[in-house]
Amino acid sequence: MRFTWATATHVGLVRSGNEDSVRPFDDGSTEEAVVVAVADGMGGAVAGEVASRVAIEAAMAEGADAEISPADRVRAGNDAVLSAIGEDYTLSGMGTTLTLGLFDPSGFLHVAHIGDSRLYVLRNEELQQVTTDHTLVAELVALGQITEEQAETHPRRHLVTRVIGTDTITVDELEIAIEPGDRILLCSDGLTTMLRDPDVADLLRAATSASDAAWSLVEAANAAGGTDNTTVAVVDVSP
Ligand code: MG
Repeated sequence: MRFTWATATHVGLVRSGNEDSVRPFDDGSTEEAVVVAVADGMGGAVAGEVASRVAIEAAMAEGADAEISPADRVRAGNDAVLSAIGEDYTLSGMGTTLTLGLFDPSGFLHVAHIGDSRLYVLRNEELQQVTTDHTLVAELVALGQITEEQAETHPRRHLVTRVIGTDTITVDELEIAIEPGDRILLCSDGLTTMLRDPDVADLLRAATSASDAAWSLVEAANAAGGTDNTTVAVVDVSP
């Protein structure tokens, strides 16, 4: 099994800085395990940028060593953000999402996440969101108190209920079997607040490569308004 990935990030058309982080930096391809991650930072001044970078760097430590589970990587990201705040009080209150996938060539994708950066799988032309947003509106939808349509315009739709940078975190862990032909997407909410899932699916289906997919998604988010930073990672699974 081979993994071919591409990542893309853009500040968008409204924000002055890019608080998202993504790894790997460079596009590539391997028959070995690979870790791919997206983080969306928040906090005053440059703190959001610091939070996403510190968390993702800690989570990526030790490369793709499969002995370190994705959940442990996310917890390492949380510890690193808390340490950074401990060393510099001007960073207090900073936080970040973190969604991380460990692609295992034996045919599994191990996922851990905190926050509303999503992971989707496109398989047989069908797009499925694998992660559950840790947001107020996602919780209200799950409880049946509002509809998905109401969630899209809810005044507090950006409120994230779990975030890296807090004393105790509960990490969601998932494992899915992957197959040749799968195209996996990790993204910050800059993509999913600008584009609906059917449009994301169309772009993923139409793209001729992971790189083409990544950049066409970013361009589409900007064409739709680009109100937030947009970051995507696309991983193609081949035999
Ligand atoms: Mg965002």
